[in-house]
Amino acid sequence: MTIHAKTALLGSEWVSSLRIEIDAGSISSVEIGELPQASDTCVDVLLPALANLHSHAFQRAMAGMTEVRAAGKESFWTWRTLMYQFLDRLTPEHTEAFAAQVFMEMQEAGYASVGEFHYVHHQPGGAPYSQLSELSQRIFAAALQTGIGLTHLPVLYTYGGVRREPLTGGQLRFGNDLDRFLILVDDCRGKANQANADTVVGIAPHSLRATSPDDLQRLLDQSPTGPVHIHIAEQVQEVEDVQAMLGQRPVGWLLEQAAVDENWCLIHATHMTGAETAALARSGAVAGLCPITEANLGDGIFNGSVYLEAGGRFGVGSDSNIRVSLPEELRTLEYSQRLRDQSRAVLVRSEGSVGHTLYAGAALGGARALARDAGEISVGKLADLMAIDRSHPTLCGLADDQLLDGLCFAAPDGLVTDLWSAGRHMVQDGKHVSRDSIVPAYCSAVADLLARL
Ligand code: ZN
Repeated sequence: MTIHAKTALLGSEWVSSLRIEIDAGSISSVEIGELPQASDTCVDVLLPALANLHSHAFQRAMAGMTEVRAAGKESFWTWRTLMYQFLDRLTPEHTEAFAAQVFMEMQEAGYASVGEFHYVHHQPGGAPYSQLSELSQRIFAAALQTGIGLTHLPVLYTYGGVRREPLTGGQLRFGNDLDRFLILVDDCRGKANQANADTVVGIAPHSLRATSPDDLQRLLDQSPTGPVHIHIAEQVQEVEDVQAMLGQRPVGWLLEQAAVDENWCLIHATHMTGAETAALARSGAVAGLCPITEANLGDGIFNGSVYLEAGGRFGVGSDSNIRVSLPEELRTLEYSQRLRDQSRAVLVRSEGSVGHTLYAGAALGGARALARDAGEISVGKLADLMAIDRSHPTLCGLADDQLLDGLCFAAPDGLVTDLWSAGRHMVQDGKHVSRDSIVPAYCSAVADLLARL
């Protein structure tokens, strides 16, 4: 397949009349200043598509159901209560239908790939399915159906709290001790051979609350390959609990106790001291930021300006999937910093375009976090690409080097005309090629689950 773009972001440079060839999912040649040929797929502005580095797909079906406050209850209560009600009823069929819907929405929003932080493994009550990886296989099936690039992250979840409390209620569906978890990961790696060739299987110790220091160390010793993702320092209560139990704040503890390097992605990392922020940046790990979800859950504000100044890598994820919007994810990140600092254009090192810094940074960091050789348009990289239409009124007056500012701060959703996941051309004319079958299946799965509540 050959794509011709009037304008494209090639590496960090804007170029005109770009032709690129895709072979076996990767970019095999790049030519600048070429006229389109009859068989080319012609687009307006071609960009590297982002990786969505953190998702819990099934939570998409809860969006809009928990924006109420219950009298006398803490604010997180409605969200957590509904999640556990969902978990008591969620079937393998629901899992696949919900994931297909949200993966499709991600691609239409401009994400070529997703890191699925997958923690629901077992039947209600905690009994394993006859195939231990049943629900992971449903995620693989949804990735095949949508064509999205998948980095599957089976979650190790052993305890109900930092003092190794036993799992209860809805948590029983998450639970594995380390031995069974390692079997599950092996099983997922075997099954991934039947998925798209660019599928990656990593590991995700859920958090310092749900795994013990001993298990974490054994896990890292026994599963040395693949990306490692972990939730960390999302809420103040968690920071206090970990500090009381382990004698140190979560990010500081992890950086000292584990060999955190560029294979790691620390999800949220919201509550960090200045020293923790600088140390995380030095480690080479990616900070997995989920600005829309963090705002929705009231988590707090990431220490972004200090982290960026220290050269820290970052990417973005849609986490709870309350909204799937790539521009909104990036602008929420920047706006949180502006509101805190009472300042403008915060997330830039020294000088330059905020939109470009956010977009290009999240493209490279997201790909790194998902172990995808992607994140920029360059020969040899995976063809994770998105095209947008600059004739839209919010972009038509902008110069090339203002386009990403327009996309991040001014444009509505829905400007993505085309999207390729490892060369698979899944969004065409603004619509996912399988939308007409995915949406009805999703709506009937939601109705079926709600009928069981
Ligand atoms: Zn999460």
